[in-house]
Amino acid sequence: MLENLEQENLTRVPTEWQSTLGKYTETDVRRELANPLAHFSRRRLEALLSPAATGLLEELAQASRKVTRLRFGNAVNLYAPLYVSNYCVNQCRYCGFNCTHHDERRRLTVDEAVEEAMLIAAEGFRDLLLVSGEDVNYIHVNYLAELAGRLRGMFSSLSIEVQVLTQEEYKTLFDAGIDGVTIYQETYDRAAYAYYHPAGPKADYENRLRSQEGAARAGMRKLGLGALLGLRDWRYETLCLALHARTLMKHWWQSKISFSFPRMRPAHEVREDFPHLVSDRELVQMICALRLCFADAGLVLSTRESAEFRNQALHFGITQMSAGSKTNPGGYGEEKSSTRQFDIADNRLVSEVHDYLENQGFDPVWKDWDCGFHRCEGNDR
Ligand code: SF4
Repeated sequence: MLENLEQENLTRVPTEWQSTLGKYTETDVRRELANPLAHFSRRRLEALLSPAATGLLEELAQASRKVTRLRFGNAVNLYAPLYVSNYCVNQCRYCGFNCTHHDERRRLTVDEAVEEAMLIAAEGFRDLLLVSGEDVNYIHVNYLAELAGRLRGMFSSLSIEVQVLTQEEYKTLFDAGIDGVTIYQETYDRAAYAYYHPAGPKADYENRLRSQEGAARAGMRKLGLGALLGLRDWRYETLCLALHARTLMKHWWQSKISFSFPRMRPAHEVREDFPHLVSDRELVQMICALRLCFADAGLVLSTRESAEFRNQALHFGITQMSAGSKTNPGGYGEEKSSTRQFDIADNRLVSEVHDYLENQGFDPVWKDWDCGFHRCEGNDR
């Protein structure tokens, strides 16, 4: 399935992208903006991402806002991440959980994870993302299935952001009540990918690229995509990300795609210089370009971003956000010392985020799904 994606895009050298995008003019961009609800096309995406569109950022934001309100109304979904382990077998150069780092490691038993989840549920969340380093001997399918079984009465939607699994493993988790899978490719550039992932199972680019295909085949309802912004040119990543999404949508239209926009953040013992850090204006352009090509996609912004930027982004396309997040295992309870994956930038309480949304006329949504719709074991519907 992904052969088309390869042939179409991912093997092209970045300089070709730059010269292609450089040919678009403001007239081309205005033509695309005149029809905000137009479907995805390669030409449309290129025009909206081009340097020519940078001078029309306000117009992009207005068009993106219009499409978002038409498709989503004022709804903004709230979710929380639950980190269950910061052990990892990989050596990603940008991550605090890199196995060569010397830090406090912690993994939660299923009972401990349930306790953390209860604290999260008490805040109002019904949409939970289970996150782990690649702690493959402990946070395996049996652990996740058992945890899902314990949590599914408490949450209406459970997703995972863990190591790449096989289609059969995704199916086991789907049957246990997990309905979403988030996997960031990190970077679509093979050379950059090889550099930033020098060892461990994650070094296999191809395996990661194909992972969402297995999740979709297993029935997963939500597929989360993203690139870690800072590793490679953001325009290149956005083009690849969009084509990845389009390919998945064509084949697995039953699953809903969402895009995340993780920008690089300081992390424990990470001392790399990242040559492609993305500015606020560039991130706005990226968000708007994707919204104007994928009207129905969820656009997700986590607490990696500051309160100020997240507040602004709500007005031009973001439809899902986390709040009150802890990025270390046990962080919602008493554990303060275990290593965080990265430093968060929006430290507001959940109630503050919720109240801000209401005061701005948004509808904060805790629950937009019911596991009764989910064909999993234990549901006889
Ligand atoms: S990004 Fe993920 S796989 Fe890589 S070191 Fe961090 S937790 Fe492990």
